[in-house]
Formats: sequence, structure tokens, C-alpha cells
Amino acid sequence: MNAQVQQADAPKRAPTGNYNHETVLTVHHWTDTLFSFTTTRDPSLRFVSGQFAMIGLEVDSRPLVRAYSMVSPSWADTLEFFSIKVQNGPLTSRLQHLKVGDTVLVGRKPTGTLLLDNLLPGKTLYLLSTGTGLAPFLSVVRDPETYERYDRVVLTHTCRNVAELAYEDMLTLQLPADDFLGEAVRAKLVYYPTVTREPFRNQGRITDLIRSGKLAADLGLPQIDRENDRVMLCGSPEMLTETKALLEGLGFKEGNMSEPGHFVIEKAFVEK
Ligand SMILES: Cc1cc2nc3c(=O)[nH]c(=O)nc-3n(C[C@H](O)[C@H](O)[C@H](O)COP(=O)(O)OP(=O)(O)OC[C@H]3O[C@@H](n4cnc5c(N)ncnc54)[C@H](O)[C@@H]3O)c2cc1C
Repeated sequence: MNAQVQQADAPKRAPTGNYNHETVLTVHHWTDTLFSFTTTRDPSLRFVSGQFAMIGLEVDSRPLVRAYSMVSPSWADTLEFFSIKVQNGPLTSRLQHLKVGDTVLVGRKPTGTLLLDNLLPGKTLYLLSTGTGLAPFLSVVRDPETYERYDRVVLTHTCRNVAELAYEDMLTLQLPADDFLGEAVRAKLVYYPTVTREPFRNQGRITDLIRSGKLAADLGLPQIDRENDRVMLCGSPEMLTETKALLEGLGFKEGNMSEPGHFVIEKAFVEK
């Protein structure tokens, strides 16, 4: 191949440093504070369902990036992200105006602790989330390995308002009907949305619902216990502190990359 042809085949913008340049394919606004978008995926990008990457925009010729969980499962051809809109946030004040065709920087080295391998074997996997903490679990519940390892998968999502319960249709309609995953999802996945600030069929914070026995009663399952249950947590700092204390009170030990445990934690964001 001569040099001219090589140039013609090259991408319009070479990847800079640690980031690939991906093109926005779709944008969906859920509320005035939440949106999702999908992008192209560089074929060289490898990640495990549940991980996060540094993503963002080039601003003044420099990358402005933040940690974002991969919403898409590891096998998907495209990438998806679920984002907050922080009015004065350096990144999201800009990112919320993304349009189809725009460029997003995606870090080439995804990482994170919300991995099936970081948990000891168990029967029921609880995925407990608040707000955008749902994001990594949207990846985990679309990974066939999740259903190979667990008899049951319980995904809880707690928000202030009903409108913030993003992805409900995907979880309750599309995924159970999926050609590839539908059978496992119908047999094993339970989606349990809860709302704290307005009337809804399930109300209250997840810690209160676990402590009171309401979650177990609603699911028709025994109370969470260390013998059979494994837990992944992703939510606000407050939710993580409280749930971690609750689980440790039940004898659960936190897992990490070097030693699997009964539960693992990832921050949905950091309070500054
Ligand atoms: C491991 C990890 C994974 C993350 N994954 C996601 C994700 O998938 N989606 C996402 O939107 N954010 C995620 N975040 C948060 C994200 O990194 C940024 O903080 C967010 O995009 C806002 O960026 P910003 O520059 O606009 O404001 P920042 O200066 O980063 O944040 C300003 C303030 O906004 C609040 N805030 C930031 N993010 C959130 C949030 N997600 N929910 C509620 N309040 C928030 C906090 O009070 C924070 O101090 C993650 C953070 C970590 C540490």
C-alpha cells in the first residue's frame, strides 16, 4: 500500500494520548437533569461489564474528562453512557449539549471493582443503585455470564422522582424479549425500582427496605444473608456508607481485585 492510500484510509483525527475519538450516534434526554448517549466503539477497546472509563470532551485543545460507567455490555459494538447534568459542572454543563455526529473522548483503559470475579460464588446477586449508579448494572444485567453464575439477579434503582427511573422500558420490556438474553432474563432478573420523594408502588430508601424486610417480602425471597447472597453497590456517597455498614453488620466482607468478597462498591460520583 502506498503512502497516499494509507493517508486516505486513516481516521479523520488520530487518537490523542490515552483517548479514542468516538462519534455520537444517538442522544436521549430523560429529564432536565439526566440524559444518555451512544457512540461508536473503537474495535481495540476492551472492557469487562461493570467497569468505568474516563470520558469527555476536548476543550481548548485539552481533554476534559470524568469517570463514567459503561452502560453497554462488553460484547456490544457501540458504547452507551448515562449522565447527570450538573448546571455548573465543568464537563456536564457542556456534555449535556451533545448532538449526533459530535466527538467524545473515551479512555482506552477502563477499570473498576464492580466485577463478577471480585465476588465469591453465591446464589442471588443483588445490584443496588441510586441515580446514575444504575449505569454499570445496565452492563452487568446484559452480560450472559451474570446468569451463568447466579440463580437470581435483583436490580434495585432508587431515585427521588418517578421520572428519574431511566431505562425502565429496556429492563421490563426489551430485555425480557431479547433473542439472545430473553430466556435467562425472564427466568432470573428481577427489577425493583423505588422512589423517595413522591408516591410510587415501591417507596423509600433501599437500606430502609432491606432493614424492614419489605424488599425481601416484596420479592418473595429470604432476608439478605452472607451464605447465599452477593451484592454490588453503586450510588451516592451517603447510600454507599449506609449500605456498607448494613452489610458489614450482617458479616459481609468487601471484595476487591486481589481478594473476592461478599460485596463490592463503586462510587456513582464524588462529592466535592
Ligand atoms: C467511578 C465513577 C463512575 C462514575 N460514573 C458516572 C456515570 O456513569 N454517569 C454520571 O453521570 N456520572 C458518573 N460519575 C461522576 C462523573 O465522573 C462526574 O462527576 C459527572 O459527570 C459531573 O462532571 P462535571 O465536570 O460536570 O462536574 P463535577 O465537578 O465532576 O461534579 C460536581 C458535583 O456534581 C455532583 N455530581 C457529579 N456527578 C453526579 C452524579 N452522577 N449524580 C449526582 N450528582 C453528581 C457532585 O456533588 C459533584 O461534586 C462517576 C464518578 C465516578 C468516581
